[in-house]
Amino acid sequence: MKYLYLSDVGDGLCMRLDTIGNRSILIDCGSQAGSEKAFKGFKKIFRYHYEKPDIFILSHFHIDHYNGIFKMENNSIGLKELYCPGIPEFTKKGLKDEYLMALLCMTARVLGNGSKSAEVDLINKMRDITYSKFFFRHLYQNDNVNINGLRIDVLWPPKILKDEEITKLIEKAVQDFNKALENDCELRNIYKKYEENKIIEKYLYTDENHRDKVFYEPEIKKQEFKKNIESEYIEKDKDVDNGKKIETDNKEKLHCTIQTANESLRKAANQLSLSFAIDDRILFLGDLEKKEIINVIETLKDEERKNFAVLITPHHGTHWDDSLKSIRCEYALSSNGIKMIGKFKEEFKKISNNCESTFVSGDILFPFMPFLSRYDYTFYEFIKRFLLII
Ligand SMILES: [Zn+2]
Repeated sequence: MKYLYLSDVGDGLCMRLDTIGNRSILIDCGSQAGSEKAFKGFKKIFRYHYEKPDIFILSHFHIDHYNGIFKMENNSIGLKELYCPGIPEFTKKGLKDEYLMALLCMTARVLGNGSKSAEVDLINKMRDITYSKFFFRHLYQNDNVNINGLRIDVLWPPKILKDEEITKLIEKAVQDFNKALENDCELRNIYKKYEENKIIEKYLYTDENHRDKVFYEPEIKKQEFKKNIESEYIEKDKDVDNGKKIETDNKEKLHCTIQTANESLRKAANQLSLSFAIDDRILFLGDLEKKEIINVIETLKDEERKNFAVLITPHHGTHWDDSLKSIRCEYALSSNGIKMIGKFKEEFKKISNNCESTFVSGDILFPFMPFLSRYDYTFYEFIKRFLLII
């Protein structure tokens, strides 16, 4: 690995990793400040029109992690691989289907008809913007992705989720959704339609839609890409993100139940977000919440992996659990803006020698020197500062 770039996209994430063999990986591309800001951030770190990502890894389906791709032009990149986290099986029978159904219905209710499923939208969008055939795969704990000798070890989400407390939170999201279902007639209509169309079976189990390990052809010049639908999609996205409005029937009560269910489902998406490690250089914790952080740290402890050159802090530096105290890193990097910086957890300073955020430092470029071990980064930092002084 040569470089890590963290683009200053405000509250969001847009990150690039470069391998020694000149493959570049884009990890997330989104911002709460809007898709334009995310896209600008992407252009900065890829020096647009000169370099393009070969691989896109999405940590989870929140717009502050992927709305930037909706600004990319058709046939503009040559993507070869696309990865996103899979949804685990739960120990409680039927919970996966219930959760997925809640997720699909709520996405359709909140974002309108432009989207049935964030994942389907992502794949379709990728088929439009890429001119090459690409490989798609869901990632689960213990999977690894090999990119030109660079090994990405997936730490979360698990294939089967056994943790009772996390399962309970997923169940709560489903319960909140059921309450919203009782109160909102539009949501009920969507649910009924999806049930009749057996959308879950289509989504998960039929061959045609079984998307694990699939090669996708680029979409060859469809009708001039439904620009209207798309811009509407992005605008609505923004509204949801700012928590401004979610259209409901006139009663305040309905507004609340939809808001609550949406919030619970958003939290659940954080809980199932991707976390990975690249040997002793990078630990990426996605938007994980407390419980999952504990699980990931346990796994790392079992493997005796405690020291990392760079930690990408969970949820933009705003999520913390004491189990993280067993980790040491040279740099704790947070991608955040004005909203998240206020909730930044000072504890990250205690487990790192250097704590930086995009809000304070702007774009961050981190060189990985092949001849330096992780212990030499302090020396490198010393030299850097010394050179700055003279
Ligand atoms: Zn986020």
